[in-house]
Amino acid sequence: MNDMTMTAAVAHPLPKAPFEGRHLIDGIWQGSADGATFDRISPSHGVVVSRSARGGTAETEAAIAATRRAFDDGKWSRATGKERSTLLLKVADLIEANVERMALLETLESGKPISQARGEVAGAADLWRYAAALARTLHGDSHNSLGEDMLAVVLKEPIGVVSIITPWNFPFWILSQKLPFALAAGCTCVIKPSEMTPSTTVMLGELLIEAGLPAGVVNIVLGFGQPVGALMAEHPHVDMVSFTGSTAVGKAISAAASKTLKKVALELGGKNPQVIFPDADLDAAADAITFGVYFNAGECCNSGSRIIVHEDIAEALVEKVVALSRKVAFGDPLNPETQVGAIISPAHQQKIGAYVRDAVASGAKLALGGEAVHHPGLPGDFFSPTVVTNISPDMPIAREEVFGPVLAVLTFKTLEEAISLVNDASYGLSAGVWSENVHTCLAFARRAEAGTVWTNTWMDGFPEVAFGGFKQSGQGRENGRYGLDEFLEIKSVVMRIGKTRPNWVATDFRN
Ligand code: NAD
Repeated sequence: MNDMTMTAAVAHPLPKAPFEGRHLIDGIWQGSADGATFDRISPSHGVVVSRSARGGTAETEAAIAATRRAFDDGKWSRATGKERSTLLLKVADLIEANVERMALLETLESGKPISQARGEVAGAADLWRYAAALARTLHGDSHNSLGEDMLAVVLKEPIGVVSIITPWNFPFWILSQKLPFALAAGCTCVIKPSEMTPSTTVMLGELLIEAGLPAGVVNIVLGFGQPVGALMAEHPHVDMVSFTGSTAVGKAISAAASKTLKKVALELGGKNPQVIFPDADLDAAADAITFGVYFNAGECCNSGSRIIVHEDIAEALVEKVVALSRKVAFGDPLNPETQVGAIISPAHQQKIGAYVRDAVASGAKLALGGEAVHHPGLPGDFFSPTVVTNISPDMPIAREEVFGPVLAVLTFKTLEEAISLVNDASYGLSAGVWSENVHTCLAFARRAEAGTVWTNTWMDGFPEVAFGGFKQSGQGRENGRYGLDEFLEIKSVVMRIGKTRPNWVATDFRN
């Protein structure tokens, strides 16, 4: 522990009182009918950061009804692309003007470093801008080769009422991969943020009102998976569920949604491999591996937590990664120097430790870290950067999402073996390849079963580029045109435009 880099607690002014979160239903901020609330205690600072209304069935029903009315009778689903785009751009400006306020709450609720929270909120504004541009590009196809008396047009129409359910690890970014795209399509939405990180969603609700979004187009219910999320998934008046979270909850949502066969878009977990070939630039790979596993304390669907390195270079690479890991600054998330903040909860901190202990008990070797850490200046839950080697592919640490700052290192001899290790997984979110040989990179990219393949880089993402998972990492895509298409229904309008008439039962139309 002594040779690790821990950042000191800084004297940052904490909010004087907890942020008060209420539901937004039909344009009105309101508490729960029974007065129930829940608190979020900062995982790093131990203070109550937010006190939120705790929604139940009544609030969820009311929010879904408001969302339905807004879609069926309101202006948003009938607005022009220009009107939608103008509003989304205003929201982007307002988000940018509120980065500091939102980032502070995001950090205190999630434990992530303030520098990363700022980047997340500012980056999310760019998603709103991109979706604003897409709002003006809604068009389908036309067919004029069906005979001179026939014309068909294929329209893209908003799918309707969308339930958006989000996790705690990138609360504002993930919401912004969904909501502006759904709004650009003309949908109306009911949102449930994670009970761990509700507040930036509430703040966004304030900004939507300030930007002039009509009442009922976006409704927010605060609370837990049961009953709020479950009702949002199965409710017959909801047309689609857009969910990001764990694979287990994704399956429950899919089952609930199947009762009315509503559309489901799922962004789920990952156990993302990076394969390092002997001709790779090892310094670049080591740096990206370090970033990939420790960013957001490894609490990241895209965490590059499974390294598959050629046995000839394994020792050299591990040495470099361990050396860099010692320099990764973990500690107070409010310290601007911090790169790895607090773990989301004590229970999760223990779960991470259990994965490491289990691997070591099964023959793995600890090259670095492996411990839950108590920060001398803070009450919260931390875990030191950890590298585990001698991993065999059947160990849970190699197959399951640890969701912590823990790197599992496996080795391979041939490309075939590497590919089979990569694809021997229930997940398929992302994969990476490190080699100076373009043929090796492309062969890998074609064969890896993953929604994103990074070559000689890790975790670069853009609003323009589709994101999503193969296999049990999800279904559907976010970002890019695909991110808009998720929220659109396709309607074909087939028209007889000439003077001929249908004549199935022979009729003399002259009479
Ligand atoms: P989670 O599945 O526990 O919770 C996600 C959301 O679902 C929360 O709002 C929760 O209240 C709600 N929920 C819980 N039970 C529900 C139910 N029965 N019905 C409806 N809603 C319910 O996930 P988490 O712990 O908040 O987030 C971490 C997980 O999210 C990880 O598995 C991670 O990989 C995944 N994730 C995936 C992506 C991606 O884009 N693929 C991005 C970020 C996180």
